[in-house]
Parts: sequence; C-alpha cells; structure tokens
Amino acid sequence: MVNVLWLQGAACSGNTMSFLNAEEPTVCDLIADFGINVLWHPSLGLELGANLQKLLWDCINGKIPLDILVFEGSVVQAPNGTGTWNRFADRPMKDWLTDLSQVASFVVAVGDCATWGGIPAMEPNPSDSTGLQFLKRKEGGFLGTEYRSKAGLPVINIPGCPAHPDWITQILVAIATGRISDIALDELNRPQTFFKSFTQTGCTRNVHFAYKASTAEFGQRKGCLFYDLGCRGPMTHSSCNRILWNRVSSKTRAGMPCLGCTEPEFPFHDLKPGTVFKTQTVLGVPKELPVGMNKKDYALLTIVAKDATPKWAEEDIFTV
Ligand code: SF4
Ligand code: SF4
Repeated sequence: MVNVLWLQGAACSGNTMSFLNAEEPTVCDLIADFGINVLWHPSLGLELGANLQKLLWDCINGKIPLDILVFEGSVVQAPNGTGTWNRFADRPMKDWLTDLSQVASFVVAVGDCATWGGIPAMEPNPSDSTGLQFLKRKEGGFLGTEYRSKAGLPVINIPGCPAHPDWITQILVAIATGRISDIALDELNRPQTFFKSFTQTGCTRNVHFAYKASTAEFGQRKGCLFYDLGCRGPMTHSSCNRILWNRVSSKTRAGMPCLGCTEPEFPFHDLKPGTVFKTQTVLGVPKELPVGMNKKDYALLTIVAKDATPKWAEEDIFTV
C-alpha cells in the first residue's frame, strides 16, 4: 500500500479536475491495481475538522507513513511571510507543507502554480506566491534549492495549466511500483519522458509549418498556428501531441494555439493586450523562434518554403 496525501494551496482545482479525468491509468486503477491509498484529497477526502488535523499530525509524527505528498496550487507566503492568507485545517498551509515535506518519501508538484508559482505569482504577486522548489525559472521556491524528499529526490515537477491527467497518474504509478528511478528529470525537475519533446512533436500541422502555410482563424483544420496566431508549440516542452487529451485531441489539433503552459514563463508577456494569440514579430520575423533556430536561417528557410509550397498545403486535407 502506498499512501498518497494531496493538498491544495492557491489553486483553481484545475489539476484535480484533470486528475479525476485520467484514463491511462484512471484514478480507480491507481487504487484497485497499483496499491495507491488516497489518505486525503480535497475532493475525495472524507475527514473534516479535527479528524483531518489528526490525520495530518499522524503523518508528521510518523504514525502514518507518508509515501507521496502531492501539492496543487501555489504556496502563499503573504502577509509578511506568515502565510495566513491561505489557512487550512487551522494553520497556514505553508506550515503544513514545511512539516509534511520533511516526512514524505516523494513530493510531487502538480500544475504550474505548484511547480513555478503560476498565475498567482505574476507581478506584482500580492499573495507572495511561489512554487514548491522554483519561482518561475529560478530554483529555490518555498522549499529551497537543497530540498530533497526522504527518497533523495527533489520535488518532481509536473507542470501544465492544468497538467495532463495521464502525466499525473503515470508518475504516481512509477513511484508506487518502484520504477521512478528509471525516469530522468530535466533541469527543471520535469520527467523527461513527458517534457523532452515539444508540443509540436506529433502535431498534425507540422507539414503546414514546414511550408509556412498559416492558419487565419481559430478552429481551422488547415494551416499552422505559428505564423499569425502565436502558437508556442515549437518552443514548449510537452507531450500534448503524443499523449492526446481525452485520447483524441490536443489544442493544436483542434485549431487552438499552444500557450506554452508547461514552461515557467507562462503566462507569457504577463498577458499584456495584443500579446496573446498573436505572433510577436520584428520586420515580419517572429521575435521567438523554434528552439535551436537562428533568425538568419529562419528567414532563408521561410523564403524557400513559401516558394515551394504545393497547392494542397493551402487546402483542408482532413476531410471526412
Ligand atoms: S500548430 Fe503549433 S505545434 Fe502545430 S505545427 Fe504549427 S507551430 Fe507547431
Ligand atoms: S498544447 Fe501547449 S498550452 Fe495546451 S496543454 Fe499542451 S503545453 Fe499547455
């Protein structure tokens, strides 16, 4: 039996909704097939009040082994470092986190707010929000750079707004079955198995990207969303087009640009008007290019691509 405790800080519950929709494996599979025992979860836990406090203290005092602590939402430190803007079970949530993180074998941060601070940590960040071990791209966060869980790992970061449901359940399974050491983490402590490739990897619009055939409107099935609609697929590490959402689709497949939600800088440009769903350009060249490409090569490539575009690239090839 592997005990999992899931707590929420400053959160919208989006990652809980995502988790409850997991398919491979489902939450029921976790319990029935993989020996996961959900000690408590904000939407599933039965204990309230004094009973919940007792459960938390029993984890801290070692009466109940805490195998996996999952955290969703940012860590609120305001006002003045007290954390009292986010109280839970009669204490600041950050105090529960301080104690529970010392006894947990593994700590998993789920979603952008828990990993990097997310939207609550946007300037001017009045709630003094941070992620568990990062604040945006800067390592440290609430627990500090040196933090390691009892199993010797840093906080395992599963970002996204929300994180894909199967990223969450598959990492819980890897821990529960003793296979987490097979999974390498990147420099942001994200499991590489989900975050080494790009959103663009597996996108059905790659052929349109190559020929610089642009999409003009949301929801269009032809064209690529990079050139006009601000798609961040070539710059975003995610597996959204390899492990599809609801097993059938992804943002870009549905005609919606990738917003780069698995990167610490999300939301980009602090959501300033005119910066969302709009490719930012200088003299017609996008300010941000696909990872690894320089401006000169990009300009050359796109001139050639535009000239070489076959007629079919301007058509909707996904007919029914
Ligand atoms: S729509 Fe986005 S992810 Fe898909 S090919 Fe174009 S830039 Fe890449
Ligand atoms: S397609 Fe982009 S914005 Fe959408 S969930 Fe994936 S990484 Fe996030």
